[in-house]
Amino acid sequence: MIVMKFGGTSVGNADAMRRTAELIERARRTGPVVVVVSAMSGITDKLLAIAEAARTRSEDPLSLVDALRAHHEAACRGLELDEVDDLLAPIDDLRDVLRGVALLRELTGRSRDYIVSHGEMLSARIMAALLTARGLPARAIDGWDAGIVTDESHGAAAVLPETWRRIPVSVTGIDSVVPVVTGFLGGTEDGERTTLGRGGSDYSAAILGRGLSASEIQIWTDVSGILSADPRLVKSAVVLPELTFEEAAELAYFGAKVIHPKTIEPAVIAGIPVRVLNTFEPDHPGTRIVRTRTPAGGAEGRAVAAITSKKKNLVLSLESTRMLAAEGWLATVFDILKAHRISVDTIATSEVSVCMTAEARYEAALARALPELERVARAKLTTGRSILCCVGLGMRERPGTAGRIFAAVGLAGANVEMISMGASAINITFVVKDEEADRVLSALHTELVQGPA
Ligand code: ASP
Ligand code: MG
Repeated sequence: MIVMKFGGTSVGNADAMRRTAELIERARRTGPVVVVVSAMSGITDKLLAIAEAARTRSEDPLSLVDALRAHHEAACRGLELDEVDDLLAPIDDLRDVLRGVALLRELTGRSRDYIVSHGEMLSARIMAALLTARGLPARAIDGWDAGIVTDESHGAAAVLPETWRRIPVSVTGIDSVVPVVTGFLGGTEDGERTTLGRGGSDYSAAILGRGLSASEIQIWTDVSGILSADPRLVKSAVVLPELTFEEAAELAYFGAKVIHPKTIEPAVIAGIPVRVLNTFEPDHPGTRIVRTRTPAGGAEGRAVAAITSKKKNLVLSLESTRMLAAEGWLATVFDILKAHRISVDTIATSEVSVCMTAEARYEAALARALPELERVARAKLTTGRSILCCVGLGMRERPGTAGRIFAAVGLAGANVEMISMGASAINITFVVKDEEADRVLSALHTELVQGPA
């Protein structure tokens, strides 16, 4: 059995849905499939805006819902589906909830998740109806009914272990009816709807893959796999045919937006390969993410497989005010950051200093934390920094990779401000100024991804 997850653009309109249906039918000829769908593209953002409009009463939420309904109805008409009112029935309780939000002028995480859940509920119902109409019996299953059990952290709920027992008894009869499960959605033990974080449908696919012991998890999107760099910044970027789970996790975490970083975990635990494929170019082999690979010769055999860059980060540098860091100094620093709910990404330390990056959204929180940090350290906060991350399995074996990386950065005329290397030794991460980042990325791609292995 395979899990096939289709992203927002793959179900973005009637044409895309038809293509998706064809791909499911093609796969179904060789064995059972479980389908996972995102909301139609743009719909999750719309639902969030509608929820906000209801709370602030800035716009009539019910007329926004009419537009949302019309959008889904147009897709149903384009697909010549019957009983459209039944398919779109979930929109009725969406209206009720929005009336409540507008009345109370209060939008809790719980009601926001309830509202936003309608995107996937609708796309799953439409997709299941389309498959059935084309002669492949299918049924829509909402994430909470599929056995995805989460805690109550609305907006970014954590999956609970109960899920692994629940999924196999919830998603059944796969041989006769194709389940079309809503991505992104789960439910608490008390029956509250929750969401798994933006872009979380990939994660749903991996959760179902693990729960059902799938032989493969396919992530169908609108690009032909994971690329060696962002193609908008590096014209010569190429699709990587194969990556290990570790490499893919590093890349997903550091900004290659193709798959949600959490997708990797259930796949690794269950040892299920993940494939990233393109709905609009279905015969392209895409990227295969597997437990091990041998970086032999060829493009994928290089020390560095891919390079990501992420702009607009903050760098916090702290130097202990004593000559030697007292015991527990780092712990104190992290306690302060934790108290201000600041999450840091990359860290580099020495005996008496520590340097770390955080996303720009933490600027205000860091400014508030600064006086406390200054009690234990000389602190400096810098803005406008880019994190570049070179990832590749071959780095572990290939001596001199760091030398080549930093020589290339130097030739590009940039100054490296902070360097960190993960314990797995498959990534080298460093910081440069935002205005230098694109230039450095291109230079590195030319030297390490395209140059001689
Ligand atoms: N529809 C959700 C979002 O836009 C989940 C997903 O697409 O993966 O974030
Ligand atoms: Mg997505």
